[in-house]
Amino acid sequence: MNEIVYLDNAATTSLDPVVLEAMLPFLTQHYGNPSSSYSIGRKSKTAIEAARKKVADLLGVKSTSIYFTSGGTESNNTAIATAVKTLGCTHIITSPIEHHAVLNTVEHYCADKNITCSFVKLNEYGEVDYNDLELQLNSQVKAGVKCLVSLMHANNEIGTLLDLKRAGEICNRYGAIFHSDCVQTIGHYPLQLAEYGVHFASASGHKFHGPKGTGILYVSAGTKITPLIHGGGQERKVRAGTENVHGMIGFAKALELAYENYPGDQIYISNLNKAMRDGLMQLSPEISFNNNDNALYTVLSVNFPGNMDTDLLLAMLDQAGICASGGSACSSGDDHGSHVMHALGKKQSGATIRFSFSKLTRMGDIDIAITTLAGLLKYPLSLA
Ligand code: PLP
Repeated sequence: MNEIVYLDNAATTSLDPVVLEAMLPFLTQHYGNPSSSYSIGRKSKTAIEAARKKVADLLGVKSTSIYFTSGGTESNNTAIATAVKTLGCTHIITSPIEHHAVLNTVEHYCADKNITCSFVKLNEYGEVDYNDLELQLNSQVKAGVKCLVSLMHANNEIGTLLDLKRAGEICNRYGAIFHSDCVQTIGHYPLQLAEYGVHFASASGHKFHGPKGTGILYVSAGTKITPLIHGGGQERKVRAGTENVHGMIGFAKALELAYENYPGDQIYISNLNKAMRDGLMQLSPEISFNNNDNALYTVLSVNFPGNMDTDLLLAMLDQAGICASGGSACSSGDDHGSHVMHALGKKQSGATIRFSFSKLTRMGDIDIAITTLAGLLKYPLSLA
């Protein structure tokens, strides 16, 4: 079987062998429970705290602001639960293109009649209308309502970026709690979290060559947090359960590598993205893109007009050994398709595919993908 061409790095990335190497001793010889007081237990505890410090230093925050979690979903849930249950937020402002880890959590809390929610206005690329955010906050504050604002830093389907600092300034001006789902950006930009006015930020290790099932929640100094999981006193009594020691070590190592190799990796990945875009443009002028100019460099969302539907094209790509994701709006109104495309009113016929790249994607992978797409969609191949 031919090697797989993996162009779905926004879904997950492969584990960096250097990260695996850092994790392995904590799966084999250093197996002590971090809560145990004898030496091998203490060894695990010390390793966790070193990992926490490494993550905190890289993100420009204090160790006490970093809580390890099982990933982006848990971090998002913890932030939203805390804002509602502990911080007195009774109105949530979010956007319709958030990941379901935010949208479904907001919906869950808004089932309570004391909690309301609203969407901020977006333009056709999914960029936040900051004036609308301000207007909404202003009217809630006038009514004596404390708000949670939950807005993702980068959209996972079309890459649209939020101006974190601008959003943070607005939220702080109106005394709102600000959470940002940074799952697609932490590990891809050298973020310094103390600079943006965020109270909570979520990250996930498997999006930047760390292990799956690992994440962090950043909580700004002085912000209290509510446990989702009750039990022992791990993670400073906020997240019970014996720690995923090797996962925490892996998360920290992956983040360290990401910061060390930035901006070289960004330049390399941006070039892959551009090569894919240029190659597709050569195939047909009818092929269009959903990303705007200031979007996450790892993601390219492409519309292929015509009769081919997204699922069919994905299946054919899969048969050809190419992994990518769908991202088209459903036109039938059932539960399929992308809520992002639907919210942005993008209901064109044809297929919409998200290609996403990493430092391990090869330029040859892009050539294979373009040649394969030309064959499947019957475009003449006029590549040099
Ligand atoms: N938020 C965003 C923007 C994501 O892309 C994802 C993963 O696809 C998540 C949250 C969920 O993260 P995890 O898989 O670590 O739970």
